[in-house]
Amino acid sequence: SEAATPTEAWHSLYPSTLPTHIEPEFASILDMIEASVRRVPDRPAIRYFGRSITFAELDRMSDALASGLLALGFAAGDRAVLYLQNVPQFVIAQVAVWKAGGVAVSANPMYKARELAEILHDSGATVLVSLESLYRDVAAAVVRSTAVRTVLTTSELDLAADESSLLTGIVRTRAEGTHDLLELVGEHDGERPVRPALQGSDVALLTYTSGTTGPPKGAMTTHGNAVFNAQTFRDWVGLNGDDVVLGVAPLFHITGLIAHIAVSLLIGAPLVLTYRFDVSDLLRTVRDERATFMVGSITVFIALMNAADTDPDALTSLRALYSGGAPIAPATARAFQQRFGIYIHNIYGLTETTSPAMGVPFGVEAPVDPVSGALAVGIPVFDTTVRILDEAGAPCAPGTIGEIAVSGPQVCAGYWRKPAETAQAFVAGELRTGDVGFMDEHGWFYLVDRKKDQINAGGYKVWPREVEDVLYEHPAVREAAVVGVADDYRGETVKAYVSLVPGANATAQELIAFARERMAAYKYPRLLELVDDIPKTTSGKLLRRALRDQT
Ligand code: AMP
Repeated sequence: SEAATPTEAWHSLYPSTLPTHIEPEFASILDMIEASVRRVPDRPAIRYFGRSITFAELDRMSDALASGLLALGFAAGDRAVLYLQNVPQFVIAQVAVWKAGGVAVSANPMYKARELAEILHDSGATVLVSLESLYRDVAAAVVRSTAVRTVLTTSELDLAADESSLLTGIVRTRAEGTHDLLELVGEHDGERPVRPALQGSDVALLTYTSGTTGPPKGAMTTHGNAVFNAQTFRDWVGLNGDDVVLGVAPLFHITGLIAHIAVSLLIGAPLVLTYRFDVSDLLRTVRDERATFMVGSITVFIALMNAADTDPDALTSLRALYSGGAPIAPATARAFQQRFGIYIHNIYGLTETTSPAMGVPFGVEAPVDPVSGALAVGIPVFDTTVRILDEAGAPCAPGTIGEIAVSGPQVCAGYWRKPAETAQAFVAGELRTGDVGFMDEHGWFYLVDRKKDQINAGGYKVWPREVEDVLYEHPAVREAAVVGVADDYRGETVKAYVSLVPGANATAQELIAFARERMAAYKYPRLLELVDDIPKTTSGKLLRRALRDQT
């Protein structure tokens, strides 16, 4: 029987235990953290290579660091860029920035100088928190041309050192003119800054994304957005303080910020970090820490499956698995379930929707569309409306393909200082996602295509123009066109078509190496084909789709 409205259709797909509406419990992330610090002060908030930081310690350290930042001139509303791997200091610094009334901006630690500089400039950040090695190799060269006045550096844990405390095990090698993050914590230990009066509409994070239109833009995630989606994960999956959250997604990405940091802080459960993705580290961590909840990209699940020696019982502690950010091939999900006996739930969202906007309810198996073969991404989460729009922006009937548009409490406040791009993507509070899909007659949603030029390399998003711009800097390049082509592991990989300046000489290998030096590892073209001419429309516009279809 067909439901009268889509909302009723989705809600009929919710398990009976799931509410359709949730009430925000906290005005800000700080209020949310405070509740957990009060409730479970002595529980580990972070676990890292077998060592812990408790909720009370995290509270005290972030208070001290916030005091240190304020003493160094940081003020409410200021931006601090976090340029770090998944280390505990990421969480300490982020909470400290909020306690100082500031906005935390995340930068991918894979960024090379030009990419980092872009974010430092765009955000106007006055503080940079960097891993010491990244500062030395990349950031030091660019900070001087930015508004950054204060640099905090921090290092990795020396795993060989026989230290029981996590913090004394962290190596301290400070570059000239910078502050050591943990020394600053030590100097201000015991200080408690005046708590900023934060509201749900205040911006907590700037998370950079190419969005639907090119150059990186800072999505303004509010405290209200983050609290709402932390609660969404908790209630959608049924998480509680007995869970152990595995932090395998990068913390700089919105998935890490919400599904790892915010969720664990909300439920008062440990967040288990692994420094960077490595299959054997991950397996050992799951086993030793008895991790129960994991959100990652499908490439992580594929890597686990492909590791020849993975014991079929290796993941038994994991009770809830979610994969987002990139399509899941139904065959992959089936093979994973056969091997490990655990179902991977799909979850859909964007940086602009603070991670989840749709998902497969926990314990439910998503259908596969018989025509496209796509696995459903889910149904709208609590209090969220998803519409499929035609070219004119009018809603489509079930079964009709159009652009996916999302409205709900998780849709961010727009792009930082980019009113034109904001107006284009957020129409009357509804986000035009650039994803193309449809809703079936039961209310399930499927993705079948993209309107935006973005390439999705295993969840890492690549904007073709950025890669082309770098290739154009090579003197031998006349024209460059970059597209995503199918890849068994990543889903898509970056391919460049290049034509050379007449008389110039360059090999494909040379051009790949040129690009590789100048951008993050997931962006440079793995494949490069030299061609005589790049297909274009009569008006000279690149025919990206023709190139995509030809491969
Ligand atoms: P990001 O801003 O990096 O989170 O990227 C958001 C984009 O990732 C979306 O617009 C989709 O194109 C893609 N995406 C997110 N979740 C899924 C999913 N479950 N299946 C397929 N693609 C997804």
